Amino acid sequence: MGLGFTMCVRSCFQSSCLQWAWRTAFLKHIQRRHQGSHRWTHLGGSTYRAVIFDMGGVLIPSPGRVAAEWEVQNRIPSGTILKALMEGGENGPWMRFMRAEITAEGFLREFGRLCSEMSKTSVPVDSFFSLLTSERVAKQFPVMTEAITQIRAKGLQTAVLSNNFYLPNQKSFLPLDRKQFDVVVESCVEGICKPDPRIYKLCLERLGLQPSESIFLDDLGPNVKAAASLGIHTIKVNDPETAVKELEALLGFTLRLGVPNTQPVRKTMEIPKDSLKKYLKDLLGIQTTGPLELLQFDHGQSNPTYYIRLANRDLVLRKKPPGTLLPSAHAIEREFSVVGTPFYVMEYCPGLIYKDPSLPGLEPSHRRAIYTAMNTVLCKIHSVDPQAVGLEDYGKQGAYIPRQVRTWVKQYRASETSTIPAMERLIEWLPLHLPHQQRTTLVHGDFRLDNLVFHPEKPEVLAVLDWELSTLGDPLIDVAYSCLAHYLPSSFPVLRGFNDCDLTQLGIPAAEEYFRMYCLQMGLPPTENWNFYMAFSFFRLAAILQGVYWRSLTGQASSAHAEQTGKLTEFVSNLAWDFAVKEGFRVFKEMPFKNPLTRFCHTWARSQSQWYPIGTRSYSSVPEASPAHASRGGLVISPESLSPPVRELYHRLKRFMEQHVYPAEPELQSHQASAARWSPSPLIEDLKEKAKAEGLWNLFLPLEADPEKKYGAGLTNVEYAHLCELMGTSLYAPEICNCSAPDTGNMELLVRYGTEAQKARWLMPLLEGKARSCFAMTEPQVASSDATNIEASIREEDSFYVINGHKWWITGILDPRCQLCVFMGKTDPHAPRHRQQSVLLVPMDTPGIKIIRPLTVYGLEDAPGGHGEVRFERVHVPKENMVLGPGRGFEITQGRLGPGRIHHCMRLIGFSERALALMKARVKSRVAFGKPLVEQGTVLADIAQSRVEIEQARLLVLRAAHVMDLAGNKAAALDIAMIKMVAPSMASRVIDRAIQAFGAAGLSSDYPLAQFFTWARALRFADGPDEVHRATVAKLELKHRI
Ligand SMILES: Cc1cc2nc3c(=O)[nH]c(=O)nc-3n(C[C@H](O)[C@H](O)[C@H](O)COP(=O)(O)OP(=O)(O)OC[C@H]3O[C@@H](n4cnc5c(N)ncnc54)[C@H](O)[C@@H]3O)c2cc1C
Repeated sequence: MGLGFTMCVRSCFQSSCLQWAWRTAFLKHIQRRHQGSHRWTHLGGSTYRAVIFDMGGVLIPSPGRVAAEWEVQNRIPSGTILKALMEGGENGPWMRFMRAEITAEGFLREFGRLCSEMSKTSVPVDSFFSLLTSERVAKQFPVMTEAITQIRAKGLQTAVLSNNFYLPNQKSFLPLDRKQFDVVVESCVEGICKPDPRIYKLCLERLGLQPSESIFLDDLGPNVKAAASLGIHTIKVNDPETAVKELEALLGFTLRLGVPNTQPVRKTMEIPKDSLKKYLKDLLGIQTTGPLELLQFDHGQSNPTYYIRLANRDLVLRKKPPGTLLPSAHAIEREFSVVGTPFYVMEYCPGLIYKDPSLPGLEPSHRRAIYTAMNTVLCKIHSVDPQAVGLEDYGKQGAYIPRQVRTWVKQYRASETSTIPAMERLIEWLPLHLPHQQRTTLVHGDFRLDNLVFHPEKPEVLAVLDWELSTLGDPLIDVAYSCLAHYLPSSFPVLRGFNDCDLTQLGIPAAEEYFRMYCLQMGLPPTENWNFYMAFSFFRLAAILQGVYWRSLTGQASSAHAEQTGKLTEFVSNLAWDFAVKEGFRVFKEMPFKNPLTRFCHTWARSQSQWYPIGTRSYSSVPEASPAHASRGGLVISPESLSPPVRELYHRLKRFMEQHVYPAEPELQSHQASAARWSPSPLIEDLKEKAKAEGLWNLFLPLEADPEKKYGAGLTNVEYAHLCELMGTSLYAPEICNCSAPDTGNMELLVRYGTEAQKARWLMPLLEGKARSCFAMTEPQVASSDATNIEASIREEDSFYVINGHKWWITGILDPRCQLCVFMGKTDPHAPRHRQQSVLLVPMDTPGIKIIRPLTVYGLEDAPGGHGEVRFERVHVPKENMVLGPGRGFEITQGRLGPGRIHHCMRLIGFSERALALMKARVKSRVAFGKPLVEQGTVLADIAQSRVEIEQARLLVLRAAHVMDLAGNKAAALDIAMIKMVAPSMASRVIDRAIQAFGAAGLSSDYPLAQFFTWARALRFADGPDEVHRATVAKLELKHRI
């Protein structure tokens, strides 16, 4: 039998945590309670004969709570739904809907309008309604199910008195088992709503009772008050657990089943009682003819666990589930098949198990103490010397994490039912980011709050349950696993979390603090890479959930919840991936950066590096560490001369391009030509996640605009120029790395000029790559190369700006992900010319934005973003969406177009390098008129000409970037204008030569050349017409260089 193992682990920290004397006393106390309960009479001595339950907020989650969670997920201003539900009181849409005076469709229409008006944004109320009425959310609280069973067992009546509504299918919304209630009274059926006294009277009438004979539970004060005024006893429900305790006190009998957290043994989990009884009697030497009492603990997905009472012994039996198992998933390696599968038996340790990790009903200080006790007991487990307690062979020494990663990848693969992109990315990412140093200690492997038995009166852990994943390993895994609940929602079915609660208000330490507490108690330095451990823990949870799901498909799951878990694997794997991304950023940001003003300048060419199949650029003949060559303000003209961390980043990007981006181009290209082209390609989204995790994300934001590297990678413009060029070798890489126009310019605008609220609303989703944006300046009716011509009007009306205008060539506006339009228009036509314009942040779902058509560039649509013609008709924008203030538009657009403008030039160098590389490969492989094309003089001349032009343009780009770094965007005006004059034309010529060398194939979509050519040509307008830049250069030349 398995007692040996259990006791051994317990003995490690028995003196402080398991006080036998106390446990015996507590056991007696529990037994006395049970005996007492048997003596209670039919009605518990009370006068109550019925309990009446409200539904939402009492039996199932309240709409308010569901709304709060939904608002966070959908970025709707908090409290909008609740406010709209209450709006209009008795005659508001919600109350009328509940009295069935309007249909679900009518309600949603009215309610949606109300929410949108209140929040000044469009609110998808349909999605809220679906969530509210979904099976996942509208589920009865188990504690209430238990209470109803007990109430009825005592002979009392039960009723549900609900304010509810008709669903679109004309069925009333009552997701409860009606058999639990003697009376059901629904507002939509009766046409009366609480707190109208008539509906309470109706309920009492149907129960055949006087008001004083019933107890009414509701979560809303006015409903409770109305019941109380009729003489009904009431309980205001804040949380179901506490309400049940209050109800117990009123009724005078327990509403819990005898042994906490148990239920009758589930049908599929029955075990033969007779053979078990015989076995236990023999083993424990018990002489009894009494029955063996058997109950099943109601939590634990994997190994069913039973409570046994035989004679006066309280025991716990834990066994493997029946059926075929995944390899090594259930390590209960004990001997007997008395109950059909291996099992072990241990003593029952009575105490409290906190199943809800948000610890409802406790004081904040008490919650903190519980989590501190949890941390302390973990430190104790990790402080056990395995050798001293005979556990030195309990697991392998060292390399725990790599083994775990392998094991869980294997487990996941064995139960995989479909491809989950985040799991695939994690399977690639985890082995590449393994922690270097690991301590080896005893590891619990499933350390969570609900695996701890607590003292009922003080914050002290009495026992730690569920050891079957224990081994020797890296203890930080346990710390991370303890924090899973911090990131899961309270509605998460298998492992309840509290990410939707305010931790400070609750008093629960945040995950970071929990790690710090642990390190402090253990005397360790802070854990820098805790995000890795979180990523791995969530990955493991995802693999476990997938296993449970797989078993549910084969009918062996040990929990009724198992089926739902399949859908959860994806959710959890995405959480894991979020941590992987954070870890990627941390590693990158911690790389030491040199002062941008003291870079080396290397200008001599050296032999071709293996990293340059595209372009053949590598310069440096001087040992870079030589102080002799350190020149203040030096210009880095080759990637090999970049500082080590940026060089490493460059090579990482290069590898990423080769491994992921170039191979994906054909598929991405065919998506753009397919009927699905106006929806974002799922492959792009997947590659974006990969780029994030590699730290190849938001590289564009210049150090000068973001000195604390709060938002971006903190590169200088020169450093970024090298990386941007590399991204420019593919049309798709800029978006994959969240470095594409027009988002980059808009993000920079928000970083530089946005208020904190504007940043929170717009910048964050853009930085995360979850949203896209557009910039609307150009108008068909005026020459828009002169921004002062812009005519769209922005007028003040009450608390709004109202805009009217006609725009075109608005890149990205057709993208379904586009949430923000940075709009330029005139606020004051009478102000001085450069003070007439203003910039407004316009949510794309504001009514009045009408997209007329997508424009094409040489027939190309550039889906899914496109370039749209659009009308703005009386578009109401809240005043707080103004950037900087009225009349500052010109100033803002000048700033916006600074670095953003030369990013196009950097990418154009990339286009050109790729075109030349393709051209060289092509001319080497084709023969015409008796010799390879590469031997034709004109071809050689073209290659030479292209190389020279690329090099010239690149030097000019780097120079512009360098001046921007040293002296700012304004001082670099001449350099910016010069490169904008040069780069698009240069690229057009180089690409055109490549197309010529390719023959007709060069014009097809089989190669990126035709698209490169189109964009190079378009950029002679999109970045402002060549002539305007030429005029600027001439003007500055005449002004400063006479
Ligand atoms: C692919 C693409 C994407 C675009 N994306 C956006 C976007 O997202 N948002 C946006 O607001 N706009 C966008 N545009 C529009 C672009 O910014 C404008 O086309 C550009 O500013 C020129 O304005 P215009 O077309 O009105 O030309 P006009 O101003 O009418 O100019 C026409 C021509 O007049 C000549 N000209 C103008 N000024 C001078 C001068 N000073 N000296 C000599 N000749 C001159 C030039 O030859 C110029 O090409 C995009 C354009 C393209 C092609």
